[in-house]
Amino acid sequence: ERLVDAEVEPEDKAIEAALRPKALDDFVGQKRVRQQLSLVLEASKLRGKSADHVLLSGPPGLGKTTLAMIIAEEMGSPLRISSGPAIQHSGDLAAILSSLTPGEVLFLDEIHRMSRPAEEMLYMAMEDFRVDIVVGKGAGATSIPLELPSFTLVGATTRAGLLPGPLRDRFGFTGHLEFYDVDELELVLRRSAGLLDLKITTEGFHEIASRSRGTPRIANRLLRRVRDWALVHSVDDIDARAAATALDMYEVDSKGLDRLDRSVLESLIHKFGGGPVGLSTLAIAVGEETETVETVAEPYLVREGLMGRTPRGRVALPSAWVHLDLEPPES
Ligand code: ATP
Repeated sequence: ERLVDAEVEPEDKAIEAALRPKALDDFVGQKRVRQQLSLVLEASKLRGKSADHVLLSGPPGLGKTTLAMIIAEEMGSPLRISSGPAIQHSGDLAAILSSLTPGEVLFLDEIHRMSRPAEEMLYMAMEDFRVDIVVGKGAGATSIPLELPSFTLVGATTRAGLLPGPLRDRFGFTGHLEFYDVDELELVLRRSAGLLDLKITTEGFHEIASRSRGTPRIANRLLRRVRDWALVHSVDDIDARAAATALDMYEVDSKGLDRLDRSVLESLIHKFGGGPVGLSTLAIAVGEETETVETVAEPYLVREGLMGRTPRGRVALPSAWVHLDLEPPES
């Protein structure tokens, strides 16, 4: 369990519920998505109809679930939550759809992981608010049409590219969530600190935000660790130094790299002269599974421009030397 993992951990759940913004105006950043969504919701209110179906895509922890909750709140509608992996048979989906109330918002997380038959049922439900329930098997099977109340589907996916075209096309609006910049994360943290009754200086917020890997979920998690540190050390006013000391203790460095990330960079530089080196060799050198290095450490190192992928293997980029306080090689 890594402090800087963007996936939700069980310990996050209760506190995340408490920190979630409830209105679009309180949702920090993602200006374009917010503006477009606000228009979609406003138009549907004026028409007096359910809002168009909404697809939200983007990496974990950037606010897809939060936006789904806000959509329901702003529409004054109840929200039903389910997920792709929970819908393995079309009957699972039929049971959910047939129990929706008029105007309800249905949030399907990880919608790309739904089974094929359920996906096909969803096409018709989204377009015509109707499904065909097949009863019986073989030659005796009959299909019974079932009218549904109008509803708004909010689908969330980390992999928009994996969604079949016909499903993607049935969403009236698609919003792609981007990583947050440090200023925006400072605002997320300010809001959370207010709710948690914590006193933090501007520089303190900056320090935590800089280590949060562009992700509000990680920012809120680091804030909680800093809060614990401050409590134990009887620090009332958290400044940059206090925040840095706390997070250094948890081995989250100034760029948000943790022990695994740093050990990948250190191996690359010290054992392989900066590369190129094959992924499996690199993984053996850091004592991890190849898959762990590839899926856990690599994406952020590449995103931050610390590591590169070449046809001949992984290479450390000049900023990796700088980050580790080393002199980059001439060439
Ligand atoms: P996953 O794909 O893992 O379900 P997600 O994209 O749905 O993640 P959320 O659960 O919505 O992410 O957000 C994680 C946490 O970050 C929540 O506590 C939420 O309050 C906070 N958060 C996310 N985006 C924002 C934002 N724009 N403003 C304030 N808080 C935010």
